[in-house]
Amino acid sequence: MAWNVFKFCTALRALGSVIIVFVLGIVSLTYYVVVLADYGPSLFLGGLDSLLSLLVLPLFHSLLVMLLWSYFSVVLTDPGGVPPNWRPVTDEERGEADSLVESEYNGSDLASNRLDDLDHQRVRFCQKCNQFKPPRCHHCSVCGRCILKMDHHCVWVVNCVGAFNYKYFLLFLFYTFLETTVVTLSLLPYFIAFFTEGEIPGTPGTLAATFITFILNFAFALSVMGFLIMHLSLVGANTTTIEAYEKKTTPKWHYDLGRSINFEQVFGTDKRYWFIPAYSEEDLRRIPALQGLEYPTKPELNALRPL
Ligand SMILES: [Zn+2]
Ligand SMILES: [Zn+2]
Repeated sequence: MAWNVFKFCTALRALGSVIIVFVLGIVSLTYYVVVLADYGPSLFLGGLDSLLSLLVLPLFHSLLVMLLWSYFSVVLTDPGGVPPNWRPVTDEERGEADSLVESEYNGSDLASNRLDDLDHQRVRFCQKCNQFKPPRCHHCSVCGRCILKMDHHCVWVVNCVGAFNYKYFLLFLFYTFLETTVVTLSLLPYFIAFFTEGEIPGTPGTLAATFITFILNFAFALSVMGFLIMHLSLVGANTTTIEAYEKKTTPKWHYDLGRSINFEQVFGTDKRYWFIPAYSEEDLRRIPALQGLEYPTKPELNALRPL
């Protein structure tokens, strides 16, 4: 049995490398068509062609840099594992703690009586990892370990998407949507030319490559747009994909702190870092959610307000 599991994991790892090569293959094909076959040569044609190339080429290259930076940030960043020997704070420890700490952990007595609060305060244990699970943590069967604020295991990035790389994943979706839209629009005149003109410039090879690239990028733009809209609504409600599925029975979501705070818990407060796959030192220090172990809840915020 152990041998089979080992073989299954090996197969998944091999599949992972194939998918990264596949993604890089699509990027290379698109680069060849847009830069080397179509807009690069038309840069030297003069007039409107050169002007259009001067617009498309810098835009294409800058979005490509951001896309690849975000992509490899998701692939290479650890989504967040449970620190060794992590355990939840027990009721006895809560009792011994001072009143401020108590209110931070427990909310008020009134709040802790509420059903949805009990749900997030109950101690969870992972039988497979043989360790306690912090709030919002889930066990990933592909990774074979518990992941902090697990969103989903993504085959495209060959990694789990969790507390430490969710923002990078969203930026990857964002830049992929922009890049594929730019490519679709810039190849649209070439695509239309297939059906309207008798003679179009280029070898049969570059024409076929242009045709395939247009179809691929158009399909990606549409599907990524749907995915991006879904994730933006999840960020707005401070919900992971797993929680969105699970919370159907819970009337109120205790992690929903309002749109702007929900957004900051993923993207940070420093605007200079919103569009790059990184966080400022200060945000990492100040926002507990970015450490992946503690998440403020609504009753806690209310409890900390003066009555
Ligand atoms: Zn686990
Ligand atoms: Zn995973």
